[in-house]
Amino acid sequence: MKIQNKIALIFTALSAGIIVALSVFVYFFASESIATSFFHRLEVRSDIVGHAALQENKSLTSIYYDIKERHLGSLPYEKHRILPGQPDEATKKRLALPSSFYEPAQNNIPARFFNHDTSYVVLRVARDNRHVMVVSSALDTYGMQEMNNLKNLLLIGFFIAMVFVFTFGKLFSNEIFKPIRRIIRNVKGINAHNLHQRLVVEPTDDDVEALSRTFNDMLDRLEVTFEMQNNFVSNASHEFRTPLTVVSGEAELGMSIPGLSDAAKESFLNIYKEVEKLEHLTNSMLSLAQTGFDGKKEQWEEVRIDELILSVKEAADRIIPENQVAIDFDNLPDDEGKLTVNGNLALLKAAFSNIVLNSCKYSDNKPVTVKISADSKYVIVEITDQGIGIPDREIGQIFVPFFRASNTARYKGYGIGLPLTHNIIRMHQGKADVQSRVGEGTRFTTYLPFKYF
Ligand code: ADP
Repeated sequence: MKIQNKIALIFTALSAGIIVALSVFVYFFASESIATSFFHRLEVRSDIVGHAALQENKSLTSIYYDIKERHLGSLPYEKHRILPGQPDEATKKRLALPSSFYEPAQNNIPARFFNHDTSYVVLRVARDNRHVMVVSSALDTYGMQEMNNLKNLLLIGFFIAMVFVFTFGKLFSNEIFKPIRRIIRNVKGINAHNLHQRLVVEPTDDDVEALSRTFNDMLDRLEVTFEMQNNFVSNASHEFRTPLTVVSGEAELGMSIPGLSDAAKESFLNIYKEVEKLEHLTNSMLSLAQTGFDGKKEQWEEVRIDELILSVKEAADRIIPENQVAIDFDNLPDDEGKLTVNGNLALLKAAFSNIVLNSCKYSDNKPVTVKISADSKYVIVEITDQGIGIPDREIGQIFVPFFRASNTARYKGYGIGLPLTHNIIRMHQGKADVQSRVGEGTRFTTYLPFKYF
């Protein structure tokens, strides 16, 4: 889950907790207050009923009742029981109220009890040395209705608040993470070819600024290490070149010495061939080091891919005359622009030669097809052979320098050609894809953005 969503959810859960606690508090406080006010209203009526019962003059009794009805009105299910003196056990049992309920009333304190939605009060009313106990009960239907409304209101309020909190939480976290997303976008755009690029550091004096600076520091260190490694490979390859040329020249000279035995000639020839291979290897390593780091050093021009493939085929014919490379022009786009890329001719030629020559080599010169086509963004070159293929679990490694698949023992090679090709394609903002089946063949597909794009 994205941190952004996590924050929105935590924010919502926290707010939900606070709102629930607040709602519970409001609900119980309101319920307490409504119950107290209802008990109070019941007590007032109970008191009037008690005083009416203690009137000896019956006409006064009815006046009491009259005043009660006229000014206070009846409560729902209002009932009064007048008990002369202390309630006996039989009465208590009939009323089904706990004994402790009557106790405060004996000390002239009104007692309250709530059971099954019904409120009960018991009051001791005294007058002229006589007293009665009045047990009154009523149902607070209005209060219950109020509490029900309050409950619904709190529930609806809770859900609406949650929707708002989640939406604002998301917007808020989205806003907070904007600079982080910008950093991710920028960092994604930095690779071996543009290691000199840096993140834009905005002086916000916060963690994002610190993160950008840390990234830039790390890139500084990476760039230095990368440059050192490349310089080392370039320098070493350069240094090897001269002695290798001298050795191959000497070997050539040695072969032409008159009167040399066949064995000695053979020996000079072997030296010459091996030195040639070493020269090829050092040249490839030099190219790999150069393309791997800074593509800007190269010269860029408009390159027609169909013409380039034709020149690759010509080169293949010279190196391996028995090759069966065929170019498929059937899907060639009509628009020339879709065949033209901005790039370095020599490097692109080296890249496609590597793939085509590999296809010939690893298929023992079986037919190889090179198909050129284009989509809306790329000119696509598919090179398909019927060779030994690449084992499934090794496909992911073929662009790693010096890697050679496990089924290549009988073929010569160093594992430098494809990493170089890959670097060249990436330098041109393109991509390469490999599909292969052992014993059936391999297809390399390269995508290079054409010049319109
Ligand atoms: P190499 O000098 O070994 O050919 P590359 O860098 O050109 O080095 O290729 C790397 C590895 O990729 C090869 O060793 C081989 O295992 C595999 N490979 C490349 N092209 C093909 C192909 N057309 N068919 C089968 N395997 C291939």
